[in-house]
Amino acid sequence: MAIEAGPFTAWLTQARASLQGEVGADVPCGDCVGCCTSSYFIPLRPTDTAALDDIPAQYLVSAPGEPRGHWMMGYLANGACPMMKVGQCTIYQHRPQTCRDYDCRIFAAAGIDAGGPEKVVINDRVRAWEFSYPTPADRQAHDAVLAAAAFIQSQRNAFPGARAPTAPTGIAVLAIKVYALFLQADALTRTAAQTAAAIIDASRAFDAASAV
Ligand code: SF4
Ligand code: SF4
Repeated sequence: MAIEAGPFTAWLTQARASLQGEVGADVPCGDCVGCCTSSYFIPLRPTDTAALDDIPAQYLVSAPGEPRGHWMMGYLANGACPMMKVGQCTIYQHRPQTCRDYDCRIFAAAGIDAGGPEKVVINDRVRAWEFSYPTPADRQAHDAVLAAAAFIQSQRNAFPGARAPTAPTGIAVLAIKVYALFLQADALTRTAAQTAAAIIDASRAFDAASAV
Protein backbone atom coordinates (compact mmCIF):
# COMPACT_ATOMS: atom_id res chain seq x y z
CA MET A 1 0.00 0.00 0.00
CA ALA A 2 1.36 3.41 -0.97
CA ILE A 3 2.01 5.96 1.78
CA GLU A 4 2.13 9.66 0.98
CA ALA A 5 5.66 11.03 1.32
CA GLY A 6 4.70 14.60 0.43
CA PRO A 7 5.55 16.91 -2.48
CA PHE A 8 9.10 16.14 -3.52
CA THR A 9 10.66 19.61 -3.53
CA ALA A 10 9.11 20.55 -0.20
CA TRP A 11 10.42 17.31 1.30
CA LEU A 12 13.87 17.81 -0.27
CA THR A 13 14.15 21.35 1.11
CA GLN A 14 13.25 20.08 4.58
CA ALA A 15 15.60 17.08 4.31
CA ARG A 16 18.53 19.32 3.33
CA ALA A 17 17.75 21.68 6.22
CA SER A 18 17.65 18.68 8.54
CA LEU A 19 21.07 17.53 7.29
CA GLN A 20 22.34 21.02 8.07
CA GLY A 21 20.97 20.78 11.61
CA GLU A 22 18.35 23.48 11.10
CA VAL A 23 15.15 21.43 11.58
CA GLY A 24 14.12 17.94 12.69
CA ALA A 25 12.91 15.27 10.30
CA ASP A 26 9.16 15.14 11.17
CA VAL A 27 8.46 11.81 9.45
CA PRO A 28 4.84 10.58 9.39
CA CYS A 29 5.92 7.20 10.80
CA GLY A 30 2.48 6.11 12.02
CA ASP A 31 2.95 2.83 13.90
CA CYS A 32 6.19 1.92 12.09
CA VAL A 33 9.19 1.33 14.36
CA GLY A 34 11.50 0.11 11.61
CA CYS A 35 14.50 2.19 12.54
CA CYS A 36 14.31 1.03 16.19
CA THR A 37 14.34 -2.67 15.25
CA SER A 38 16.75 -2.91 12.31
CA SER A 39 20.23 -3.51 13.75
CA TYR A 40 21.39 0.10 13.66
CA PHE A 41 24.21 1.40 15.79
CA ILE A 42 22.94 4.75 17.07
CA PRO A 43 25.55 7.52 17.30
CA LEU A 44 25.23 9.80 20.33
CA ARG A 45 26.79 13.25 20.53
CA PRO A 46 28.00 15.07 23.65
CA THR A 47 24.84 17.20 23.38
CA ASP A 48 22.62 14.11 23.87
CA THR A 49 22.94 14.58 27.62
CA ALA A 50 19.42 13.43 28.55
CA ALA A 51 19.75 10.27 26.44
CA LEU A 52 23.20 9.55 27.87
CA ASP A 53 21.77 9.86 31.39
CA ASP A 54 19.04 7.33 30.54
CA ILE A 55 20.94 4.70 28.56
CA PRO A 56 22.71 2.06 30.67
CA ALA A 57 26.49 2.13 30.17
CA GLN A 58 26.51 -1.51 29.08
CA TYR A 59 24.92 -0.49 25.78
CA LEU A 60 27.40 2.28 24.98
CA VAL A 61 30.84 2.15 23.38
CA SER A 62 33.13 5.02 22.42
CA ALA A 63 32.46 6.03 18.82
CA PRO A 64 35.42 4.96 16.69
CA GLY A 65 37.25 7.86 15.05
CA GLU A 66 35.24 10.48 16.92
CA PRO A 67 36.41 12.83 19.70
CA ARG A 68 35.86 12.03 23.36
CA GLY A 69 32.20 12.30 24.37
CA HIS A 70 30.84 10.66 21.20
CA TRP A 71 29.27 7.25 21.75
CA MET A 72 27.56 4.47 19.86
CA MET A 73 24.60 2.52 21.23
CA GLY A 74 24.49 -1.08 20.06
CA TYR A 75 21.50 -3.31 19.45
CA LEU A 76 20.19 -6.58 20.85
CA ALA A 77 20.54 -9.99 19.21
CA ASN A 78 17.13 -9.56 17.58
CA GLY A 79 18.22 -6.25 16.02
CA ALA A 80 16.14 -4.10 18.39
CA CYS A 81 17.43 -1.03 20.15
CA PRO A 82 17.87 -1.84 23.86
CA MET A 83 15.73 1.19 24.72
CA MET A 84 12.77 -0.38 22.89
CA LYS A 85 10.29 -2.16 25.16
CA VAL A 86 6.93 -3.64 24.12
CA GLY A 87 7.10 -1.86 20.79
CA GLN A 88 7.82 1.57 22.24
CA CYS A 89 10.85 3.76 22.87
CA THR A 90 11.26 3.99 26.65
CA ILE A 91 13.28 7.22 26.38
CA TYR A 92 11.23 8.88 23.65
CA GLN A 93 11.30 12.36 25.22
CA HIS A 94 15.07 12.03 25.68
CA ARG A 95 15.90 10.08 22.52
CA PRO A 96 19.19 10.91 20.77
CA GLN A 97 19.31 13.52 18.02
CA THR A 98 20.15 10.75 15.55
CA CYS A 99 16.73 9.20 16.18
CA ARG A 100 15.03 12.58 15.77
CA ASP A 101 16.79 13.17 12.45
CA TYR A 102 16.28 9.75 10.85
CA ASP A 103 14.07 9.88 7.77
CA CYS A 104 13.80 6.71 5.68
CA ARG A 105 12.37 8.76 2.81
CA ILE A 106 16.00 9.54 1.88
CA PHE A 107 16.22 6.00 0.48
CA ALA A 108 13.01 6.38 -1.49
CA ALA A 109 14.34 9.66 -2.88
CA ALA A 110 17.60 7.98 -3.91
CA GLY A 111 15.88 4.89 -5.32
CA ILE A 112 17.73 2.43 -3.07
CA ASP A 113 16.98 0.09 -0.19
CA ALA A 114 18.05 0.99 3.35
CA GLY A 115 20.10 -2.21 3.55
CA GLY A 116 19.93 -6.00 3.44
CA PRO A 117 17.65 -8.51 5.20
CA GLU A 118 18.24 -6.91 8.60
CA LYS A 119 16.57 -3.75 7.25
CA VAL A 120 13.53 -5.52 5.79
CA VAL A 121 10.99 -3.51 7.80
CA ILE A 122 12.54 -0.23 6.68
CA ASN A 123 12.84 -1.47 3.10
CA ASP A 124 9.12 -2.23 3.06
CA ARG A 125 8.42 1.29 4.20
CA VAL A 126 10.88 2.76 1.69
CA ARG A 127 9.06 0.99 -1.14
CA ALA A 128 5.70 2.20 0.14
CA TRP A 129 6.61 5.89 0.16
CA GLU A 130 5.09 7.79 -2.74
CA PHE A 131 6.19 11.36 -3.42
CA SER A 132 3.97 13.76 -5.33
CA TYR A 133 5.09 16.11 -8.09
CA PRO A 134 2.88 19.22 -8.14
CA THR A 135 5.18 20.99 -10.60
CA PRO A 136 7.69 19.86 -13.27
CA ALA A 137 10.45 21.11 -10.97
CA ASP A 138 9.45 18.47 -8.40
CA ARG A 139 9.94 15.69 -10.95
CA GLN A 140 13.22 17.21 -12.19
CA ALA A 141 14.57 17.47 -8.66
CA HIS A 142 13.71 13.83 -7.95
CA ASP A 143 15.29 12.70 -11.23
CA ALA A 144 18.42 14.64 -10.25
CA VAL A 145 18.63 12.93 -6.83
CA LEU A 146 18.16 9.55 -8.52
CA ALA A 147 20.88 10.38 -11.07
CA ALA A 148 23.26 11.49 -8.31
CA ALA A 149 22.69 8.27 -6.36
CA ALA A 150 23.13 6.14 -9.49
CA PHE A 151 26.39 7.94 -10.31
CA ILE A 152 27.80 7.50 -6.80
CA GLN A 153 27.06 3.77 -6.94
CA SER A 154 28.19 3.04 -10.48
CA GLN A 155 31.19 5.40 -10.82
CA ARG A 156 32.98 4.77 -7.57
CA ASN A 157 36.33 4.50 -9.37
CA ALA A 158 35.95 8.06 -10.70
CA PHE A 159 36.45 9.36 -7.14
CA PRO A 160 40.03 9.82 -5.89
CA GLY A 161 41.07 6.56 -4.22
CA ALA A 162 37.59 5.19 -5.07
CA ARG A 163 36.47 6.93 -1.87
CA ALA A 164 32.75 7.17 -2.47
CA PRO A 165 30.16 6.02 0.04
CA THR A 166 29.05 2.41 -0.26
CA ALA A 167 26.56 2.21 2.63
CA PRO A 168 22.98 3.14 1.67
CA THR A 169 22.76 6.03 4.12
CA GLY A 170 25.99 7.56 2.84
CA ILE A 171 24.90 7.22 -0.80
CA ALA A 172 21.46 8.73 -0.17
CA VAL A 173 22.77 11.61 1.96
CA LEU A 174 25.47 12.51 -0.56
CA ALA A 175 22.97 12.41 -3.43
CA ILE A 176 20.68 14.79 -1.53
CA LYS A 177 23.57 17.15 -0.82
CA VAL A 178 24.79 17.37 -4.44
CA TYR A 179 21.71 16.66 -6.56
CA ALA A 180 21.71 20.18 -8.09
CA LEU A 181 24.80 19.23 -10.12
CA PHE A 182 22.60 16.84 -12.07
CA LEU A 183 20.19 19.64 -13.00
CA GLN A 184 22.92 21.66 -14.69
CA ALA A 185 23.03 21.97 -18.48
CA ASP A 186 26.47 20.34 -18.74
CA ALA A 187 25.56 17.35 -16.54
CA LEU A 188 25.54 14.98 -19.51
CA THR A 189 28.76 16.22 -21.10
CA ARG A 190 31.03 16.13 -18.05
CA THR A 191 33.41 13.20 -17.75
CA ALA A 192 32.97 10.85 -14.80
CA ALA A 193 36.09 12.30 -13.18
CA GLN A 194 34.76 15.85 -13.61
CA THR A 195 31.43 14.85 -12.11
CA ALA A 196 33.12 13.13 -9.17
CA ALA A 197 35.27 16.22 -8.52
CA ALA A 198 32.18 18.43 -8.70
CA ILE A 199 30.40 16.14 -6.22
CA ILE A 200 33.28 16.42 -3.76
CA ASP A 201 33.29 20.23 -4.05
CA ALA A 202 29.51 20.49 -3.70
CA SER A 203 29.48 18.18 -0.69
CA ARG A 204 32.21 20.22 1.01
CA ALA A 205 30.31 23.44 0.31
CA PHE A 206 27.14 21.91 1.79
CA ASP A 207 29.02 20.80 4.91
CA ALA A 208 30.74 24.17 5.25
CA ALA A 209 27.35 25.89 5.12
CA SER A 210 26.14 23.47 7.83
CA ALA A 211 29.03 24.43 10.09
CA VAL A 212 28.25 28.18 9.95
S1 SF4 B 1 11.59 3.22 9.17
FE1 SF4 B 1 10.88 5.24 8.43
S2 SF4 B 1 8.67 5.27 8.82
FE2 SF4 B 1 9.56 3.60 10.04
S3 SF4 B 1 9.97 4.52 12.05
FE3 SF4 B 1 11.85 4.73 10.84
S4 SF4 B 1 11.72 6.74 9.86
FE4 SF4 B 1 9.66 6.21 10.59
S1 SF4 C 1 16.51 5.37 21.37
FE1 SF4 C 1 14.31 5.12 21.06
S2 SF4 C 1 13.90 6.17 19.09
FE2 SF4 C 1 16.12 5.75 19.20
S3 SF4 C 1 16.41 3.76 18.18
FE3 SF4 C 1 16.19 3.39 20.39
S4 SF4 C 1 14.03 2.94 20.66
FE4 SF4 C 1 14.24 3.95 18.68
